[in-house]
Amino acid sequence: MIPGAFDYHRPSSLADAVKLMGSLGDDATILAGGHSLIPMMKLRMATPEHLVDLGGLGELRRIEVNGSAVSIGAMVTQAQVIASTPLAAAVPILMETSTQIADPQVRNLGTIGGNVANGDPGNDMPAVMQALDATYVLSGPNGAREVKAREFYSGSYATARAPGEILSAIRIIAPPAGHGYTYEKQKRKIGDYATAAAAVILTMSGGRCTAASIALTNVGETALWAREAGAALVGTPVDDQAIKAAVAAAKAIATPSADGRGPIDFRLQVTGVMVRRAIEKARSRAR
Ligand SMILES: Cc1cc2nc3c(=O)[nH]c(=O)nc-3n(C[C@H](O)[C@H](O)[C@H](O)COP(=O)(O)OP(=O)(O)OC[C@H]3O[C@@H](n4cnc5c(N)ncnc54)[C@H](O)[C@@H]3O)c2cc1C
Repeated sequence: MIPGAFDYHRPSSLADAVKLMGSLGDDATILAGGHSLIPMMKLRMATPEHLVDLGGLGELRRIEVNGSAVSIGAMVTQAQVIASTPLAAAVPILMETSTQIADPQVRNLGTIGGNVANGDPGNDMPAVMQALDATYVLSGPNGAREVKAREFYSGSYATARAPGEILSAIRIIAPPAGHGYTYEKQKRKIGDYATAAAAVILTMSGGRCTAASIALTNVGETALWAREAGAALVGTPVDDQAIKAAVAAAKAIATPSADGRGPIDFRLQVTGVMVRRAIEKARSRAR
């Protein structure tokens, strides 16, 4: 349980961090809150030669809400997300999700950037970011580029981030006021990753659904945006028939594996239950 030897670097600006990552090459690994990386290092599943700690980058710890334009710095912790009143008002699903991640100790250090950059299908934020159609800002030697959350994940721990790039911010256009939302997560105990979880954002007008977005956690190699499931709700009053169609569409793309959280059939069943509960709760919250 002791990590291998590494050199430790603590740049004090994003520009310096990008330069450092460029000069250290493939042997450098970014350290954010350390709550996924350090356990991996202790198990020697990660053996970086250089650790580049982003902890000194105050510029990445800001939450900005300007009307519907929301920007969250990568080093914002889950605890900061929970404590931000403007963020809770604009995009309440983020606070709701953060409270379901791990425990207060982990949330005090674990960052939103680390959660989405990690590429672990068990992390909760990637599905929420896909449901929100968030954009990730990646800063590298050639400047900054943007990648949609829905296009970022290609496999377990495989993402569109190029070596040397730093995820610097997450940009979100807040859903319209009065939208319905929820993140519904089934877990074995407090602090556990999801057996299955579903994020739902929807808007209603005149008793009918005008937009809906659904995404799933930990039931595939990556977080999954369930495009067809959301489409099954649009134009309907979100009644039982529409919910059944959305649940069937979500289950059709889920490919959970059998693990300590249960056999495949059970995890698929839980996926359906999470999607149904999330849609019903989001519907009840929509104004
Ligand atoms: C007991 C326990 C329970 C947990 N339960 C949950 C849970 O229920 N749900 C959940 O979602 N998570 C859970 N986690 C994980 C936790 O949320 C982590 O904090 C999170 O996965 C990673 O964030 P971090 O800031 O700690 O990143 P780190 O561990 O520092 O980094 C994780 C990975 O992302 C990379 N990285 C980090 N930041 C950046 C960046 N800005 N740019 C590019 N790459 C970057 C690192 O190089 C590393 O590969 C749990 C962790 C523990 C210890």
